[in-house]
Amino acid sequence: LAYLCKMLGKLTGWDDTIVALATPPGIGAIGLIRVSGPKTFGIVGGLFPAKDLREQPSHTLHVGLLKEGEETLDEVVVSLFRGPRSYTGEDVIEISCHGSPYILERVMQALLHAGARLARAGEFTQRAFLNGRLDLTQAEAVADVIAANTAASARTALHTMRGGFSRELRDLRERLISFSALIELELDFSQEDVEFADRKQLYHLISEAEQMTSALLASFRLGNVIRNGVSVAIVGKPNAGKSTLLNTLLNENRAIVSEIAGTTRDTIEEVLNIDGVLFRLIDTAGIRHHTSDVIEQIGVGRSLEKMDQADIVVYLFDVADPIAGVAAVREELVAKGKPFLLVGNKVDTAEGAAARGRFPGELLISARDGHSIDVLKQRLVDQVLQGAGAGDGTIVTNARHYHALQLIQLSLSAIRKGLDELLPGDLLALDIRHCLHYLGEITGEITTEDRLDYIFSKFCIGK
Ligand code: GDP
Repeated sequence: LAYLCKMLGKLTGWDDTIVALATPPGIGAIGLIRVSGPKTFGIVGGLFPAKDLREQPSHTLHVGLLKEGEETLDEVVVSLFRGPRSYTGEDVIEISCHGSPYILERVMQALLHAGARLARAGEFTQRAFLNGRLDLTQAEAVADVIAANTAASARTALHTMRGGFSRELRDLRERLISFSALIELELDFSQEDVEFADRKQLYHLISEAEQMTSALLASFRLGNVIRNGVSVAIVGKPNAGKSTLLNTLLNENRAIVSEIAGTTRDTIEEVLNIDGVLFRLIDTAGIRHHTSDVIEQIGVGRSLEKMDQADIVVYLFDVADPIAGVAAVREELVAKGKPFLLVGNKVDTAEGAAARGRFPGELLISARDGHSIDVLKQRLVDQVLQGAGAGDGTIVTNARHYHALQLIQLSLSAIRKGLDELLPGDLLALDIRHCLHYLGEITGEITTEDRLDYIFSKFCIGK
């Protein structure tokens, strides 16, 4: 396979020395340019007259002027990484320049003149994968780390990157491989009616694997939620204080919307970042303009549709409201079967003094002066993490992995069924092979060119 990759590399330009700006475009204190490939030391060395970089040991830093001919481009720091002990597995040099777009542009041009070519999106990580520095789930997690908006999503992405997810799957795959080898061996001795593969042990392994896959599948929803944000609908009668609450929440926790993928939509959504979990407040235009949340007397009425779209509903009532009305709302919310928080607002008012007695057990806040807003935020986060088996376990965040896991689950139950029905070894071996195939699809041990290109094209250039 390594040989094939090399041959393919020659044809598709994987053998080139590539260069890209690794820091975001624009003005920054420092701009980082990354060069990777067989000619890295020659190309960068040619622009760095202070010393001969080819003579310097790996993993060292050198300060000096970067020059093209007589022209000084910048004073830079170069970091040297010789393959295979580098991110891509090839020779890599990172050049830290001053962060002016003009200087960076000049340095890039000089490197291109000297024989490097511009990297395609994700090409650095693609090379890391092809050189065995990362497996496929780890490579995809790199993309997720780059795109991670919040602390929580960065944590899950980092966990996958360190190999948590793939370690479990690879372990399972290896154990299955040894079983299938034993079963195939039996087939060679089919006349003799021997059993090398212990069926009981296999059964045990399959049960374990089934448990693991269903836990991973269950984590997908949570992972998705952490990555894409949890949608929250704030509903309640007019004047309950919804827009006041919205503003109070946004003042402290507004997430920078332009950085979040997929938020440029037609509908207006405000995004909150609470403890690293993203919350999307849906239909905030309706709250601000008192349009779509006209609610009949006590019922949840027209906000039903909005509630249907939300992962969590925050129903706000005024502590001056009649007790019976609030109780009826609670019943309706329970009947809906969707996670909700029923919250009494305006505890700072004259009615508020008596509210604790009138609504025992309900969360009471003041949207205006911020009373118990921190409790409300904590409850929102609890709703997300609750029951999702979060812990510090592995969380599946990737749709491709999810799909493959579903197929793994199906093939595991086929193996189990086969064992129950005492299927002959050759049929059992076939089912095991299916399962191995899907496992390999996740960790990248089996894959196709197309799929690789697709995955790596999602990266930003310079990674
Ligand atoms: P919405 O119609 O549900 O969006 O309600 P608003 O946020 O527009 O609030 C209606 C009125 O209640 C406004 O006059 C707010 O100033 C007032 N209000 C909202 N929250 C509080 C609160 O916590 N305490 C008090 N005293 N008044 C509040």
